[in-house]
Amino acid sequence: SVLSASQIREAFLKFFEERGHRRVASSSLVPQNDPTLLFTNAGMVQFKDVFTGREKRDYSRATTSQKCVRAGGKHNDLDNVGYTARHHTFFEMLGNFSFGDYFKADAIAYGWEFVTKTLGLSKERLAVTVFNGEGGVPWDEEAFELWAKQGVPRERIYKLGLKDNFWAMGDTGPCGPCSEIHFHQGDDIPCAEVAAGRPCQGVACDCDRWLEIWNLVFMQFERKEKDAPLIPLPKPSIDTGAGLERIASVVQGKRSNYDTDLFQSIISRVSELVGKPYTQEGGASMRVVADHSRAAAFLIADGVQPSNEGRGYVLRRIMRRAIRHGSLLGLEDLFFFKVVDRVIELMSDAYPELRDSRTFILEVCKHEEESFRRTLNRGMKLIDEEVARMKQAGEKVLSGEKVWELHGTYGFPWDLTEIILKERGFEADIPGYERLKKEEAEKGPDGPIGPDKTIATVHLKLLERLGPTEFLGYEGVGHEGEGS
Ligand code: ATP
Ligand code: MG
Ligand code: MG
Ligand code: MG
Repeated sequence: SVLSASQIREAFLKFFEERGHRRVASSSLVPQNDPTLLFTNAGMVQFKDVFTGREKRDYSRATTSQKCVRAGGKHNDLDNVGYTARHHTFFEMLGNFSFGDYFKADAIAYGWEFVTKTLGLSKERLAVTVFNGEGGVPWDEEAFELWAKQGVPRERIYKLGLKDNFWAMGDTGPCGPCSEIHFHQGDDIPCAEVAAGRPCQGVACDCDRWLEIWNLVFMQFERKEKDAPLIPLPKPSIDTGAGLERIASVVQGKRSNYDTDLFQSIISRVSELVGKPYTQEGGASMRVVADHSRAAAFLIADGVQPSNEGRGYVLRRIMRRAIRHGSLLGLEDLFFFKVVDRVIELMSDAYPELRDSRTFILEVCKHEEESFRRTLNRGMKLIDEEVARMKQAGEKVLSGEKVWELHGTYGFPWDLTEIILKERGFEADIPGYERLKKEEAEKGPDGPIGPDKTIATVHLKLLERLGPTEFLGYEGVGHEGEGS
């Protein structure tokens, strides 16, 4: 019989426990003592100080199923959600870690054994990647030979560059090459390259034909200063991450994470409320609602609340997106909490914190939807009017003032406005909006109360305390947080 996602999660943790790893609980989505990092975005985050040697634990091998959110900062997958079959805002990352204990040979052997024996994935459909030596760091011949030794055909070991196959904790600190395991889902899956008349890039392509399921990071170097040469670490370490949703989709023979048991019951709740069946083709809105309801449930359980600043603002943007997609689906009454309740029901055995704060989570969702719904229609009307006006005038870009007004008066987060305009073939002047936001903040405590007062003040305070190099802002595109 086919493994459920819960069974896969348990099989993974047990596999590594049997090989001397300590099973460690997931840490919170809100990283402890790290103001530069928006949300926990990889399994290694809770072990960062262990890897650098600043913190000691009474074990040198660990395994986790880590709650992750990638919706801002260095890893921002928000815009992919609903449109690729593999990206979520919230997902679970399975991982095994070695703190100066075993290295490449064991990490590769464990990884291969788990996917081919425990999960029983067909070797014919697997490929791996190793670091190609781009940028002057030696190519990872060692990993290449170790994969070959496991029986991976040499022509299915691909050499990739810095972007995909080299990992660094930051400008300084531990770093090293990595290896990814990919699963071939089929060449009939649409590929943007092929559509543009170019060949599909296979494992290096952004399409879903070859799905990246597991990343093995070999921390073997250290950089003492920015751009300084790499020094070999005396005790190299291992950090790996495999997305449970993607593993479940290949194990369950699906081509989309949304077709796995992790999502089916959430999607059917949405489809039940809408009164229409879910289909792959027209299902983007249902997928967005399903994805975002998981993120909302887990973020609220970890103490984040929708607000106009920092983490809370990201949560608000996620929730308001979901609510707008619900509205597009024809849902006129409060619905979001009903979907979130299904998430709580489905995930509470693995994450009891959901059950523990169920009432609170549902209240926060209801409240947020009520306050957004009060202005949703009026805000949409303003956008419609502006779009009509721009069409008449032959304009393409909505002014920063209007984006600001939508934010302040109608509670439309800037990125929501941007998406809605994009859907209609228009753009939004986000830099202009940012300028207005900054101007409002600079008017100081006696100036008019802008809706983003709090976010701006908190931001400036942090900037003062940490300096611009350490804190680049939660919203900045170039924000270099931590994570794999
Ligand atoms: P991709 O190239 O597909 O965006 P990635 O290289 O950014 O993935 P890593 O940073 O290597 O991903 O993370 C380790 C693993 O976590 C990936 O191999 C994948 O299985 C999973 N993963 C990463 N991002 C997401 C996401 N947004 N949603 C679900 N799973 C993810
Ligand atoms: Mg990515
Ligand atoms: Mg990748
Ligand atoms: Mg990767």
